[in-house]
Amino acid sequence: MRLTEFFMPTLKENPNEAQIVSHRFMLRAGMIRQSSAGIYSWLPLGHRVLKKIEQIVREEQDRAGAQELLMPTIQPAEIWRESGRYDDYGKEMLRITDRHDRDMLYGPTNEELITEIFRDSVRSYRDLPKMLYHIQWKFRDEVRPRFGIMRGREFLMKDCYSFDLDYDGARRAYNRMFVAYLRTFQRLGLKAIPMAADPGPIGGDMSHEFMILAETGESEVACHINLLDLDIDLMGLDPKGDMQSTVDSLTSYYAATDEKRDPAIEAGLGDDLTVARGIEVGHIFYFGTKYSVAMNAYVNNEKGDKVAIEMGSYGIGVSRLVGGIIEASHDDDGIIWPEAVAPFDAGIINLRSGDEKCDAASEEIYLKLGNAGKDALIDDRDQRGGVKFADMDLIGLPWQIIVGPRGLENGVVELKSRASGEREEMSIDAALNKLTGSVG
Ligand code: ATP
Ligand code: MG
Repeated sequence: MRLTEFFMPTLKENPNEAQIVSHRFMLRAGMIRQSSAGIYSWLPLGHRVLKKIEQIVREEQDRAGAQELLMPTIQPAEIWRESGRYDDYGKEMLRITDRHDRDMLYGPTNEELITEIFRDSVRSYRDLPKMLYHIQWKFRDEVRPRFGIMRGREFLMKDCYSFDLDYDGARRAYNRMFVAYLRTFQRLGLKAIPMAADPGPIGGDMSHEFMILAETGESEVACHINLLDLDIDLMGLDPKGDMQSTVDSLTSYYAATDEKRDPAIEAGLGDDLTVARGIEVGHIFYFGTKYSVAMNAYVNNEKGDKVAIEMGSYGIGVSRLVGGIIEASHDDDGIIWPEAVAPFDAGIINLRSGDEKCDAASEEIYLKLGNAGKDALIDDRDQRGGVKFADMDLIGLPWQIIVGPRGLENGVVELKSRASGEREEMSIDAALNKLTGSVG
């Protein structure tokens, strides 16, 4: 992509409305634009990141054995009346009436709809277990939408639902999702800590929120310091195997979200305790037969008895993650994208656009990176170097290749790592080699 052609409306000034760094940088880098309170358009740069995150989330759901489907954003009120949540949900639910006076709503979540689909199609224990998920926009009319896309009203969520015959099955599904979440966040370049969360009326220990620690987190959380740099080999685990021991070893340490904190345990931990602010990026939740009983979702078991389906739900805030990653990875100059989610793999800064040699070298690098499957953004604008450096640092691509007339005289370009700030002069081939692992 050429910057002269790319739609990336950056801002020079810090926007007044942005209170936290991710919101500020997302607006300044031209990733999003607010449409109304808590509702955003995703411009090309932001959209690329959103799609990359979505894809990693998808791959790990698939790997855990969940199947993707797509449910609509608009739902009938009827099924929410069946579950009893139509009134309970209160003002956060956006209620709509269609031309035939039917009550509809913009879905804040999908337990009811998936339960309806499942109960209408499944009769026998032979059809279980199943895990179904979708990645779809949700709407919650939050009282205080804020921090840009971190607490929006319209936001993108991955929500998965598990269906099992009994508690043991539900526990296996829960554990698989637990590990799939850790893998997902690890691949996104994040340290997300599973913390005991409020299980609601069902009780038990099967509710965890995955928190990333950042000063701008909305809630205060506490955990054992060992969880901060726990090193377990998640990538080597069999995604469909028994995860109980892995989950047990992780949950053996104290880790609690605000409503689950225990002063007595915390006092006992002494120096082993960390208290920090956290951003909730995921939530997994076992709720037993709450919806299946209310909505009449039963199957026949092996003995021919009718049993209510055991369910769980598993959410990831896909759009919130974009902000969460920035909160966890930035400096004063801008964003520092982890390679896995960067909107482009590298930026090429042509210090003298219009100069024959600089243009040719920049183009050569661009083409060869493309051939090697790397996406690059060339800054080919007729601008001063300072402006180009600042913009490239702001948008945070992992690598910058700086092409200037003086370097080219000596047959070199500069390769800069955004994360470390290190700059190194080398030949074009060496730079390509470093970025692609093979000579271009
Ligand atoms: P919160 O406590 O932050 O309001 P929640 O517990 O109501 O969130 P869940 O129903 O567990 O949220 O939704 C699953 C995930 O969706 C959350 O872990 C979070 O990452 C994301 N999410 C929830 N609400 C919002 C929102 N208003 N804007 C962006 N992402 C959200
Ligand atoms: Mg939650």
